[in-house]
Amino acid sequence: MNDQAASFSDLPAGVADKHPLLWLNPHYDAREDARHMAYDQRQAEARFARCAGLLQAVFPELQATAGQLISPLVPIPKLRDALQVTRAAGHWMLKRDDALPVAGSIKARGGFHEVLSLVERIGLEAGLLTESTDRRVLAEPAARAVLGRHTLAVGSTGNLGLGIGMIGAGLGLQAVVHMSADAKEWKKQRLRDRGIQVVEHQGDYAAAVAAGRAIADADPMVHFVDDEHSEALFLGYAAAARELVDQLQAAGRVVDAKHPLFVYLPCGVGGAPGGVLYGLKRLLGAHVHGFFVEPTASPCMLVQLACGLQRPVSVYDIGLDNRTEADGLAVGLASPLVAPLMQSLLSGIFTVDETQFYADAWRLEDTEGIYVEPSAATGLHGPGQVLDTPQGQVYLQRHGLELLLHDATHVIWSTGGSLVPESIREGFRQRGRQAAGMA
Ligand SMILES: *Cc1c(COP(=O)(O)O)cnc(C)c1O
Repeated sequence: MNDQAASFSDLPAGVADKHPLLWLNPHYDAREDARHMAYDQRQAEARFARCAGLLQAVFPELQATAGQLISPLVPIPKLRDALQVTRAAGHWMLKRDDALPVAGSIKARGGFHEVLSLVERIGLEAGLLTESTDRRVLAEPAARAVLGRHTLAVGSTGNLGLGIGMIGAGLGLQAVVHMSADAKEWKKQRLRDRGIQVVEHQGDYAAAVAAGRAIADADPMVHFVDDEHSEALFLGYAAAARELVDQLQAAGRVVDAKHPLFVYLPCGVGGAPGGVLYGLKRLLGAHVHGFFVEPTASPCMLVQLACGLQRPVSVYDIGLDNRTEADGLAVGLASPLVAPLMQSLLSGIFTVDETQFYADAWRLEDTEGIYVEPSAATGLHGPGQVLDTPQGQVYLQRHGLELLLHDATHVIWSTGGSLVPESIREGFRQRGRQAAGMA
C-alpha cells in the first residue's frame, strides 16, 4: 500500500482531475539504441512484401498499390495557420492512416500483419506452402477451404475488431468480434453486414479482450488476436516506420542532427503508436522525438509510465472513468508488452479533452478538406504542446532543439476515419463547429 502511494506521487498534478497537460517522460534517453531491443520490424516488412501478390488477389482496394499497404503523407499548411500556434516553425505533415484500405484505420497495419502470419502458418502446417511458395496459392479454393475451418477472435473498442473482421473475411477465415460498451453501433453493423459475428459486452475494452481470450483458449481452431500482448500486431505497426522514412525522403524532408523529426501518435493500449515509434527509433535514433496523445479520461500509458513498471496501474486506480468519445483510445490499462519498450524511447505524452479534439477535427476538415474520426484528431494538438507550452520549452532546451525548429518536421499521425458513414460524420462536424467556437 505504501509502495502504491509512493509511486502515485510521481503523477503530474491535474491528471486525476482531467486537466489537459504535457508530461515529459523522465526516463526518456535520447542515446538509447533501439536496434539492441528485442523486435525487428524487418520480418514484418519481408512478410508484407512476400504477401503483396496475395493481398492484391484478394482485396480489390489493394489493386492500385499492387498489394502494398500504404497511406499518403501530406503537407497541412492551412491547418497549421488555423491552429494559431505562436512558434509554428517547421514543416507540418499529416500521415493519413485514416485512409488505409480495408480497415479504414491504423489497425490495418497490425491486423494485416498478424492475420498474414497466421494464414502462412496454417498454409505451412497443411502442406499448402513451403517457405518459398508464392503466397497467392492461399487465395485458391483448396486453400480457402482449409482457412475457412479456422476462426479469428478479437476483443476491441471498435477499430481493431472492424479491421480484423474485414481482413479475416477477405482471406476466407471465420471471425468473432467481441466489442466493448464504447464500440460505435455503425462499426458493429458494418461487421454484421459482412456476415461477421459480433458479441457485445457491457464492460470496457479490457473486459471484451478477456472474453475473447477465454473463448479462444478453449478451442484450438480459434486464433485470438491479443491486442494487449501481440508481437505480430506490434511488428506490423513498426513496419510503418520504413514507409514514413521513404516518404519523408521523397518529399525532400531531411531528418538528421540538424533537422529533427517530431511525431505525434494517438495512444490506446499502446500497440499502434508504440510499434510506429519503436520502428522509427530503430531507423532514426535520437533524431526522432515521439509524443503520444491520450484523452484526459483515459491516459493509460501516462499513468503506467509515470507510476513505474513494477506493477500494472490503470486509469481507474487514480479515479478516472475511461469515458471518452475518442472510442479508439478508450483503454484503461496500457499494454504490458509495449509500456516497458516505451520507457526509454518515448519523449512525452500530452492529454486532450473532448472540446479540443472535436474542434481540431473540424478545423482540419474546414481548412484542408480532410475528415478524420475523433480519436484520430487528438494528435493535431501536439505541435502546439511542444512549441508553445512551458513544458514543451523545457523539452526543447534540454535536447538542444530551440535553434533547429525552423528546419524541423512535425508529423501528426491521423489514425482512422475513412469508413465512418456520412450521417455519423455530420454529427461530429456539428459538435466540432460548436467546440471550435469555444476552444
Ligand atoms: C486503435 C486506435 C488507436 C491507438 O492504437 P492502440 O494500439 O490501441 O494504442 C488510435 N487511433 C485509432 C483511430 C485507433 O483505432
